[in-house]
Amino acid sequence: MKRLLWLLSILTTTLIAQEEPTTVDRSLEFAKGHETFRNVSFKLHEEEYVRLVKEGQTPKTLMISCSDSRVIPELISSSNPGQLFVIRTAGNFVPKNEGDKTDDGVSATIQYAIAVLNITDIIVCGHSNCGAVDGLFSTDPKLAKLTVLGRWLRWGEEAKKFTLLTVKATAAPDKRNRIAEHVSVIYQLEHLLSFPFVKQRVDEGKLFLHGWYFDIASGQVNYYDPRTYKFEPLLLSRAAGIAE
Ligand SMILES: [Zn+2]
Repeated sequence: MKRLLWLLSILTTTLIAQEEPTTVDRSLEFAKGHETFRNVSFKLHEEEYVRLVKEGQTPKTLMISCSDSRVIPELISSSNPGQLFVIRTAGNFVPKNEGDKTDDGVSATIQYAIAVLNITDIIVCGHSNCGAVDGLFSTDPKLAKLTVLGRWLRWGEEAKKFTLLTVKATAAPDKRNRIAEHVSVIYQLEHLLSFPFVKQRVDEGKLFLHGWYFDIASGQVNYYDPRTYKFEPLLLSRAAGIAE
C-alpha cells in the first residue's frame, strides 16, 4: 500500500510538472515571430547586416526612450539596422552624474556612444501615457514596496516638483501626467549635461541634444524648441522653413 501511494505521488508530481510550462515551451512561443523576422525583415536588410558585421556599426544618433512597449525608437524614426544606438529606461530617465555613485548601466552606455562611436546627436524621447511618470505621483502602497524602482524614479523627481507647482492638486491625472512627461524630457537633457564628456562635446558644437515627445494615440512626435521653450510638431515642412 505504501509503495502504491509513493508511486501515485511520483506520478502526480510528474503530471503537474508536465503541465507547467518550461523555458523551452515559452521559448517556442517566440519562434513564430523570429521566423517572420528571418523570412521578411532580415531578408530585406541582409546585405546591410553583412556589411555592418564587416565594417562595424557607425550610428550617428543615440536615442534614449522609455522601455514602454508602445514606443519603438526604430519605428518612429524609420531607422534601419546600424543607424540608431538605443538606450531604453523606465520613464526615459537619465541619471545625473554622481561621480563614483553614478548609475553605471545607463551612463556607461552614453559614454561609449560619445567616446567610441562618436555620435553627433542624442534624442531623449518622452511619451504620452507613461507608466513611470504616473508612478511618480502614485500613493499605492504596493508601488512603495518596489524599492529598486523607487530609487530609479528619483530621476523624475524634479519634473514631479515642477508639475505640482503648475497644476492644481485636483487636476485630472491625465493632464498632470502630460505636463510632467513634457517637463521631464527637459530635465533629462539637463542630466545629460551633468556628464563632462557630454558637456564638452556640446560646447564644442560636435554634439546636439534633442527633446522629443511621442504621442502614442496620434503617432505624432513633437520636439522641444529651446528658442520658444515649446514643443513643436516635428514636421518636414517646419524643418524646410527653418532651413530657408
Ligand atoms: Zn514611459
